[in-house]
Amino acid sequence: ILVRGRDVCRRNGLLILSVLSVLLGCLLGFFLRTRHLSPQEISYFQFPGELLMRMLKMLILPLVVSSLMSGLASLDAKTASRLGILTVAYYLWTTFLAVVVGIVMVTMIHPGGAAQKETMEQSGKPVMSSADALLDLIRNMFPANLVEATFKQHRTKIVPVVRSPKVAPEEAPPQHILVYGIQEENGSRVQNFTLDLTPPPEVIYKSEPDTSDGMNVLGIVIFSATMGIMLGRMGDSGAPLVSFCQCLNESVMKIVAVAVWYFPLGIVFLIAGKILEMDDPKVIGKKLGSYAITVVCGLVIHGLFILPLLYFFITKKNPIVFIRGVLQALLIALATSSSSATLPITFKCLLENNHIDRRIARFVLPVGATINMDGTALYEAVAAIFIAQVNNHELDFGQIITISITATAASIGAAGIPQAGLLTMVIVLTSVGLPTDDINLIIAVDWALDRFRTMINVLGDALAAGIMAHICRKDFAQDPGTEKLPPCET
Ligand code: ASP
Repeated sequence: ILVRGRDVCRRNGLLILSVLSVLLGCLLGFFLRTRHLSPQEISYFQFPGELLMRMLKMLILPLVVSSLMSGLASLDAKTASRLGILTVAYYLWTTFLAVVVGIVMVTMIHPGGAAQKETMEQSGKPVMSSADALLDLIRNMFPANLVEATFKQHRTKIVPVVRSPKVAPEEAPPQHILVYGIQEENGSRVQNFTLDLTPPPEVIYKSEPDTSDGMNVLGIVIFSATMGIMLGRMGDSGAPLVSFCQCLNESVMKIVAVAVWYFPLGIVFLIAGKILEMDDPKVIGKKLGSYAITVVCGLVIHGLFILPLLYFFITKKNPIVFIRGVLQALLIALATSSSSATLPITFKCLLENNHIDRRIARFVLPVGATINMDGTALYEAVAAIFIAQVNNHELDFGQIITISITATAASIGAAGIPQAGLLTMVIVLTSVGLPTDDINLIIAVDWALDRFRTMINVLGDALAAGIMAHICRKDFAQDPGTEKLPPCET
């Protein structure tokens, strides 16, 4: 038994370390909460976790560009288009399934409870419309400047602009008039006071680009995929760039193989640091608690039953074995709340543990990390219906359909970064006239739910790669690709 145990530890050392570091991070975080550290001490404490995030983020750009360009260039046009169509169709289908699970769960559990507010309260503040959000999504697909896209994305910001009335100065009405009369003021009588008749300035709302967000991964994915297809068509004249990308991809994976040994340490501090920052769990009310439980139950049903069953029915292979292979990526997703940052580890797990054809992983994973977010879509649908329930707003069938479509679109538009889903929530709420200010109702638990939904997002991408590898196995057997480099020995 001892020998076998040692063997298991040697083979799964990193995974075991990662599981232990999640547990240790939780224990350390809750213990240090009792010590009431100052914000500065907390930020020093979070430093090793911040380093982990920085390492992972550093790898996203070279990994996405090199995988898509080399992956698509090494496929013939027929195989590339078949893989592309099947992957995108599968992603849309599973995202829609996730939304349906969310809607069923939130309707059954009804976490919004009995109504407190009778009417819908709108703050009157201008908000981004669904159309603005859709246009932003399309704008981000076509970045105006590729270098800028590596650190900025386009997001419309609505700003109030105060305009003076459109009256020429000579035609302007008198600004003040003298009124003859008597007015009571603090008990004494004042005679002959003036009235200010200046027309109030007109407030209009203007939308302007707010490019403060992180990398525009969607734009980079579209550009790299297009370049990959074109390079594939160029044949021999495109070969130098293709082999450059293959080389870049291999070297990034080698960096990942070294960096993973730092990850367990980073995970401890990332998780403990977040627990130190979180609000007192006592402030979470009953409704918010049951909302969080609804989201988690939906995620569990989708991630542990629906997706694995789909995998099983399509491939006839054991989904548990497959999921065990990507467990380390799921732990990194839990620790970082970012599917983009987890991408290098998802690659590593799929290539080394699940033996997925690297040409499939190079296409399916970066596209999935950008557009396939089942967990996010499920959460957006639950959150929107929860907000409607809290507002005592009965949603009709048409509005439920609208929520399912906009939640799918919102998840596609969400970046693979922490709490991006909270931003795109506005699209879902405005589409059915719900108050966007009520996003505040769910903020207290969002950081925790984000970690679970990111795990499901990553799991969805990984299983998709397994399914595509099975469906397209004949194409790939016929098309050995143009890989010239030896297989990665990470
Ligand atoms: N954090 C999620 C991800 O990276 C996105 C979200 O739902 O906020 O996949």
